[in-house]
Amino acid sequence: MTETSPLLSVRGFSKTYKDFVAVRDLSLDLHPGDIMALVGHNGAGKTTTLRAVCGILTPSAGTIVINGHDLAADPIAAKSAMAYVPDDPRLFDALTVWEHLRFVASAYGLRGWEPAAERLLEDFELTPKRDRLTMELSRGMRQKVAVACAYLHDPRVILFDEPLTGLDPPGIRRLKDSITRRAGEGAAIVFSSHLLGVVEDLCTRVLIMSRGAARFSGTIAQARERFAGGSGHATLEDVYFSATGGDDPRDGERENPS
Ligand code: ATP
Repeated sequence: MTETSPLLSVRGFSKTYKDFVAVRDLSLDLHPGDIMALVGHNGAGKTTTLRAVCGILTPSAGTIVINGHDLAADPIAAKSAMAYVPDDPRLFDALTVWEHLRFVASAYGLRGWEPAAERLLEDFELTPKRDRLTMELSRGMRQKVAVACAYLHDPRVILFDEPLTGLDPPGIRRLKDSITRRAGEGAAIVFSSHLLGVVEDLCTRVLIMSRGAARFSGTIAQARERFAGGSGHATLEDVYFSATGGDDPRDGERENPS
């Protein structure tokens, strides 16, 4: 790996469910420090892409390389370098918050993880909930537990699918601060959200998906250049509607876009 090697490289990724092409021919590179917003209408293919990148879904075509490891050829090395926070994290009802962290530490073979775990509990205001069963926590607190678990092994690539749902304003700020900090330390982040105002001040890059394909991929400034004539006043929402204008959400449609 050279310094310029991407931490995440997706080439020609497609995913077909029976005869329906959910994502087609998607390629992207993310480097250390990149925070990429993944945006698009309902059904555009965002979750399908994230689930493939984290190895839950097998691509119908294409390659995914994480920190230099091909996900198909060397899944353990690839997955060791990444973390995924799904939109509806499944926790173990019968484990406490601390036991979740212990479980993650054990799964990744971490040693001396306890001080980092304590700091994560502090960061996300979970210290008072340390010994509570997660089934007793609110939705937002469960979301924070999922994020703390995702951070514990210091992943190089972190994927968030709609992570803001259920978080209160301080929780949103803490999550955004933690993402900025981790990117500053060299991680690459993908952040899927419909809350364009929030992603605008957090993300350095944007991937706009439409009907299973990339409509635009680049920096926020490049997106403004392309879709808003370079206007510094254009918001990401302006850019989004210009880029996707006229597209109807296809969720529920069964057309094949290929
Ligand atoms: P949202 O913003 O609503 O979360 P999304 O961009 O994440 O949407 P995906 O969940 O990736 O969209 O879905 C993309 C398309 O693939 C949708 O048309 C969806 O109905 C379809 N799809 C997703 N999972 C399956 C599946 N298991 N079987 C068949 N079709 C699926």
